[in-house]
Amino acid sequence: MDILVIGSGGREHAIIWSLAKSPQVNQIYCAPGNAGIGQIADCVPIQVSEFEKLADFAAEKKVGLVVVGPDDPLADGIVDVFEARNIPVYGPRQNAALIEGSKTFMKDLLHKYNIPTAAYAKFDDYDTALNYLNRQPVPIVIKADGLAAGKGVTVARTMHEAVEALQNIMRDKIFGEAGSKVIIEEFMEGQEMSILAFVDGETVRAMPAAQDHKPAFDNDAGPNTGGMGTYSPLPHIDSAIIEEAIETIVIPTAKAMVAEGRPFQGVLFAGLMITPDGKPKTVEFNARFGDPETQVVLPRLQTDLLDIFLATVNGTLADVDIQWSDEAAVCVILASGGYPGSYTKGLPITGLEDIDPSEALVFHAGTGKNENGEFVTNGGRVLGVVGLGADIASARAQAYEQAAKIAFTGKHQRSDIAAKALTGK
Ligand code: ATP
Repeated sequence: MDILVIGSGGREHAIIWSLAKSPQVNQIYCAPGNAGIGQIADCVPIQVSEFEKLADFAAEKKVGLVVVGPDDPLADGIVDVFEARNIPVYGPRQNAALIEGSKTFMKDLLHKYNIPTAAYAKFDDYDTALNYLNRQPVPIVIKADGLAAGKGVTVARTMHEAVEALQNIMRDKIFGEAGSKVIIEEFMEGQEMSILAFVDGETVRAMPAAQDHKPAFDNDAGPNTGGMGTYSPLPHIDSAIIEEAIETIVIPTAKAMVAEGRPFQGVLFAGLMITPDGKPKTVEFNARFGDPETQVVLPRLQTDLLDIFLATVNGTLADVDIQWSDEAAVCVILASGGYPGSYTKGLPITGLEDIDPSEALVFHAGTGKNENGEFVTNGGRVLGVVGLGADIASARAQAYEQAAKIAFTGKHQRSDIAAKALTGK
């Protein structure tokens, strides 16, 4: 079968790497892809927002399945466009992708179905919101309703910061329409974890839990990024808590979506906080694979990913037995100097050929090639180096050992990815 994967990041590289292992897969196309993806797939210069062009391409190539990676096209209804043209597609329809695209929709859904999450209030008017905010304790969390590339959330430590965030979103409209509504949310203390699940309506098959590192610098300092590294499994977190999160949050949310007439089909990604009393609560839902969570979860998958995708599209996920290896995986992101602020592109990358593929995987996030055919940087997050091992300590050692072989001017990485798993804090 030929497949079209839509997207261009490390997540899509990991999905394609996993699909390429399937004996059922013939040709993989990726739109638009990146230089690393180009090593195992045929990259097609069509942007993720060009739905009709993508559908024309899929129809012309008679692909057996389209897989959508990023959030924006899902929120904009790309799956509905493919379905209308009878092209099999993996991902939620627009009415289900709303669980990520609108935080007010997500919070109202959880509230209605009694699914654990932080207390909140929602506003579409600045003065009313400010009046409410002034009566709340700090820390407090201010969130733009819509998609804001991960920048729409402020965890405010002071009232001054909170008011500034509210002004930015509602008065100065720095996120445009995404900020026409706002959520003011109770601050939750605790440790975060992510649970991704394959979902086909009511059937939920959770993947092993993972933990991300959003801030740019060690010890969670600096501005938030798309994610500087991940690891899986989480040996320092009681498996009963992970089970409870699946039972009390992920499964009930999939059921709630069915009850609302918005059955979710695809990867449902729960961002969770384990509060000090040991109870998991929902921070957010995403409607797609996480990036860089995917890079540590899919290498542990022992079942054919294409079988899972096809069963989801056909509504038979309940019949698939999904197996995971006991191996640990740690992903260290190599970013451009300056990221998440401004950074230079086009810098040559050396050392990729020195990576031992039996010890580590390298997923490309923002890379291209120059006129000499050399790999160059082409984004904020450039590469993800995934170490594999019997436990987190050995996977982590591998990831850092292999990452040290790769060089480009300004290369930045965190040195404490997965450290929490070893210290327990
Ligand atoms: P992402 O880039 O993960 O998609 P997002 O814009 O959807 O981010 P959230 O995931 O809702 O935003 O929040 C971003 C981060 O802010 C969370 O990972 C968490 O660290 C923090 N956060 C959000 N809500 C709360 C809360 N109620 N209490 C404490 N921290 C919170």
